[in-house]
Amino acid sequence: MLNQPQEQTLWGHPKGLYVLFFTELWERFSYYGMRAILILYLTAQTTELNAGLGWDKVSALEIYGWYTMFVYVMSVPGGLLADRFIGQKKAVMVGGVFIIVGHFFLVFPELWAFYVGAASIIIGVGCLKPNISSMVGGLYQRGDIKRDTAFTIFYIGINIGAFTAPLIVGYVGEVINWNLGFGLAGVGMTLGLIVYMWGQKYLKEIGNFVPVVREIGTNKSVPLTVIEKDRMIVLLLSFLIVIVFWGAYEQAGGLMNLYARDKIDRVMFGVTIPASFLQSLHAFYVILFGVPVAYFWTKWRSKGRESSSLFKMGLGTIITGLGFLLLAFAALETASSLDGKASIYWMFGAYFLHVIGELSISPVALSFITKLAPIKYASLMMGAYFMVSGLGNKLAGIIGEAAQNAGEFTIFMGVLIFCVSFGLLLIVFVKKLKKLTHGADDDEQKIVMVEAE
Ligand code: GLN
Repeated sequence: MLNQPQEQTLWGHPKGLYVLFFTELWERFSYYGMRAILILYLTAQTTELNAGLGWDKVSALEIYGWYTMFVYVMSVPGGLLADRFIGQKKAVMVGGVFIIVGHFFLVFPELWAFYVGAASIIIGVGCLKPNISSMVGGLYQRGDIKRDTAFTIFYIGINIGAFTAPLIVGYVGEVINWNLGFGLAGVGMTLGLIVYMWGQKYLKEIGNFVPVVREIGTNKSVPLTVIEKDRMIVLLLSFLIVIVFWGAYEQAGGLMNLYARDKIDRVMFGVTIPASFLQSLHAFYVILFGVPVAYFWTKWRSKGRESSSLFKMGLGTIITGLGFLLLAFAALETASSLDGKASIYWMFGAYFLHVIGELSISPVALSFITKLAPIKYASLMMGAYFMVSGLGNKLAGIIGEAAQNAGEFTIFMGVLIFCVSFGLLLIVFVKKLKKLTHGADDDEQKIVMVEAE
């Protein structure tokens, strides 16, 4: 993990960060663009002018669930590929090519082309996503206070792609032609790969293959040290937070989407807001509040206050939980109002709290992994993180299904109580858990405090 030479910085960060920023922005444009029209394409009738594959809703939802889970599960072999064989930098290239090829298969309106395309995208995202995230961490030396901010900047790039793609690809796919929409999504990744190849000069020092043999100077592989083992334990524990968080947050696409459609008064200033519009709110809020939240933590830390990654994640879980309190109020209003509908402002407020929680967890977790994972497992651990976030997605689906019988109020209250209790528990044990990091996380804090004096 080497730092870039000083002259290669822009606005205080290595130029390589911006190369990774734009590559990932376009990759996410492809991913979220394709995702926005996928289920619509599968369920559109074959006889329609803009013909789809004519599947029934249940089969389409099922394949959609597996697809969104596998995309993240494949991050584990994607991480292994980098750690064991080719390094992160090449794995990102391989991933980019698979993603482009996958999208261009989707341009053909045939079932076989759909399967080949989807499989290729799954492999591609698995190779690209964990490795590009690890490369961001590789730009910073241990203890560099800019690392967390860098991940926030990177995360904003992700969300620029996530925000614009459903609007642009969604329009082209839905209004003009599905297959053209997929092609357009593929153009996104093509642009991303061009940026990445062009930017190689800023990425020379990072993401290269580190053979285990050279690392230890012998042909045997050495076991992890006690410190490395402790760090792995705390990383695995932090994955529990990741499942809880994404399990709560990802209800946005399912339960909360349906709730907005059926039980929220979506008329604002005389105009009815489509329920799907609310789906881009998260990304919009991340773009808007990413920098203020990062700035808040820098200030907070400079005053010497508790600001470890685990503390932020605990607080983030509580804040996300509080978003469900607003949704519970919405459910009460739905039950008592004459038209059976609640104000849309509850949703605006809930999504706002969810994003503040997200900004305290998701980029923080990415940064945390790059600080704690032993070098030989760096990409694998990042892959494992995405895999558990995929499991969180699946959990969200299960919770959404449970709401069909239990009712929304019960489910919203349940998620609130669980998230707040879990977050509080984490904060109570934060000091103990921090010990297991053996300073990998709070070196940065000391540096800031020295600077502040
Ligand atoms: N929204 C983020 C992204 O698309 C987080 C993904 C995840 O961790 N599941 O990169």
